[in-house]
Amino acid sequence: MPKSPLNVNVYVAPMRPFVGPPPQGPGDDAVWSPMSSTLISGENEALVDTLITNEQVDEFAEWIRSFDKSLTGIYITHGHSDHWIGLARLLEHFPRARGFATAEVVERARFETTTPAIAAYWQASFPGELPTEIVLPEVMGSDELELEGELIRAMSVGQSDTEHSTVLHVPSTRAVIAGDVVYNGVHMMTAETDRAGREAWIASLDVVAELAPEIVVAGHKRVGTSDGPENIAASQQYLRDFSRIVDEEESVEDIVNAMLALHGDRDNPRVLWHGARTAVARRAR
Ligand SMILES: [Zn+2]
Repeated sequence: MPKSPLNVNVYVAPMRPFVGPPPQGPGDDAVWSPMSSTLISGENEALVDTLITNEQVDEFAEWIRSFDKSLTGIYITHGHSDHWIGLARLLEHFPRARGFATAEVVERARFETTTPAIAAYWQASFPGELPTEIVLPEVMGSDELELEGELIRAMSVGQSDTEHSTVLHVPSTRAVIAGDVVYNGVHMMTAETDRAGREAWIASLDVVAELAPEIVVAGHKRVGTSDGPENIAASQQYLRDFSRIVDEEESVEDIVNAMLALHGDRDNPRVLWHGARTAVARRAR
């Protein structure tokens, strides 16, 4: 039987408020960036990354059901809780599916739930909206997966907005589901990186570019944007500009304003404020 190519469909949960500290300036309101989840499907379907809150996941589950296929696996790109904490709720909707990730990603996810300050941060940010029983993804046995005879490859690229990040490569459709290695129309979360970390992140983006993808799905993408490969270079430019501006500008406000002059069309400047605050704090260390 001839193989039919796999389909890639992207769901985006829009920006929404969360409970956070009061703003220090314009655009610093506690808003969570828009998030994507990607459905890869043939006769069956596999999913990349979950959302956060029970309500987000319930709406997302309705969307998945509209494809009328059976969900087999849920791949998690990296350990930040916003990309996998919805797994518990999603598995209530699809009990036959399984969540999985690389060993390093599972370890980071476990760290987020077992480190009291981090676990408390997530619960306090979305009070009463998260699953009460956390389900971690399982460690995958191989980084090569198969959906209807087509290869899907998990690639550990290293640094993105966090350590041990991965992307999922679907060669037959020339797609890369990039997690937080690539951003699209959203301010990039730099708080876990110094200049060297951002250089490593830029190198991770080179790895994605070398795959010559036609479809590049960013983990945080503005609603309605297209999933094109131009998001790779745009992400690299953002990181280079941020490192340069952190060197040139003194205060948090000045860093924010200089970045907004170049990248003011991106969603959620709170993430930029957060990155600028962290970069200034790092100087004192
Ligand atoms: Zn993220």
